Amino acid sequence: MASSGGSRFGRDLIVAIVFLVVGTGLGLLFGQTEVGEQARQSATRSVGGAIARGTNMDLRTQVIAENPQIIRSLQRGGGFGGEMSQQIAQNMFSHDDISVAEARERVRIEELAPRSWLIVLPIVNAVMFETDEGLVLVDTGMGPAGPAILDVIRTVSDKPIHTIIYTHGHVDHAYGAWALTEAGPDGGLPEIVAHEALPERFDRYIRLKGSISRYMSQPEHQMPAKPEDLVYPTRTFADRLELEIGGETFVLQHREGETDDQLYVWVPGRRALASADYYQGFLPNAGNGKRYQRNVEEWAFALREMAALEPAVLLPAHGAGMTNANEITAALSIHAEALQYIVDQTIEGLNKGLRKDQIAAQLEWPDRYKNHPLLNIQYVTPQDISKMVMKRHTGWWDDIPSHWSPVPREHEAAAIVELAGGIDAIVNKALDLRSSDVKLASHLVDWAWDAGRDDPLVQQAVIDVYLARIQHEDSNVQEILAYLDIMTEARQAQLDRTGRD
Ligand SMILES: [Zn+2]
Repeated sequence: MASSGGSRFGRDLIVAIVFLVVGTGLGLLFGQTEVGEQARQSATRSVGGAIARGTNMDLRTQVIAENPQIIRSLQRGGGFGGEMSQQIAQNMFSHDDISVAEARERVRIEELAPRSWLIVLPIVNAVMFETDEGLVLVDTGMGPAGPAILDVIRTVSDKPIHTIIYTHGHVDHAYGAWALTEAGPDGGLPEIVAHEALPERFDRYIRLKGSISRYMSQPEHQMPAKPEDLVYPTRTFADRLELEIGGETFVLQHREGETDDQLYVWVPGRRALASADYYQGFLPNAGNGKRYQRNVEEWAFALREMAALEPAVLLPAHGAGMTNANEITAALSIHAEALQYIVDQTIEGLNKGLRKDQIAAQLEWPDRYKNHPLLNIQYVTPQDISKMVMKRHTGWWDDIPSHWSPVPREHEAAAIVELAGGIDAIVNKALDLRSSDVKLASHLVDWAWDAGRDDPLVQQAVIDVYLARIQHEDSNVQEILAYLDIMTEARQAQLDRTGRD
């Protein structure tokens, strides 16, 4: 089930180079489908344009081409529970022809149970239930996916789209609807149902589009700029909604979790569960340092609640579907247990009065989770999830007294560099520490960078130290992306300097 269309090697390579952030629904990046001289040349050619446009996407590609070790580190992170597409991952919000054509090329549909289909797209799935009265579509993919979904639906059913349900407002779930609302019966539009917090989320994305485009490494000009650029729901609800369609019941149950507008869809007559992003097939993206607050505890509750339904068919938004009831219950339960464990450990640490960095650092990750095939650490660590729990239950202060109202970062860095005996001393110490304690090396090079980012020695040290950090076995996909950003900034500073010379 859900075998890749491309060669294993090709898929691994793309997975390695294209990063995305499953679950936040938001993603990544940049990418390059091949590495080597050709990539190096094209990346180099595009650097000037990237600078002019104020984006470093192409320069990031060049940094990878110059440091191919980064690819191996990303491969270590494993897959995303879905197929990859560089084109779509780089243009998640777009409706451009090339991305739409790519989605049409890559989409496929699998009947997991009678009249219950998983629509498999690069990165994300949608779900379709056929009823006597029409089609119920759960999610609509990313921006480019809408036409592909319509195509593939029509290969298996000619019934009208009756209802579209958004499981939440993330880009990989709600942004393909623009192509699907034109397909209603007799010119009528399908009902679009979502949780009542979803419109606010759409509004927030418009308001914060500069910030979000940067944290997601997406071109800002592709992001929705006004409400008319998005397809808002026609019907919302607060907690639970039961729809009768074609003589069948569809239960929409809201639970906070990855988002405050998330819901899952339970079809009791089929024992089929569309599990949205609650279940991701690896340690879930519940501790993303670049994203809005997640509610880890309610996430665990939702997983327990879904397991108790004893589904016979699992139609997840990411990764392969499942059709064995025992396996489904076990998968949902172990995820619930692991998330609850992190919540409990973190709250215990807070109650004891431990410093926040100690709470995360001292979190023990038991072997039963460490070795579990469905709890791979790919995007975030258990420690990252603990930080998300602390963020929910406390303020922004990190418990370090001077950090309540600090001097400017550059001021602090200059004092530390001076105490260290100058920029050369701190840079050399950082470089020395790369193999023995790369985390400490990162702190030192951060100070050097903030004290003297025009210094050629510092620029190269930032690249060298963060390359080592990326290669460290503890680094996962989310933090690797952050380290790649600072490497790219340092590379940019080098290019600016050579341009001036
Ligand atoms: Zn998602």
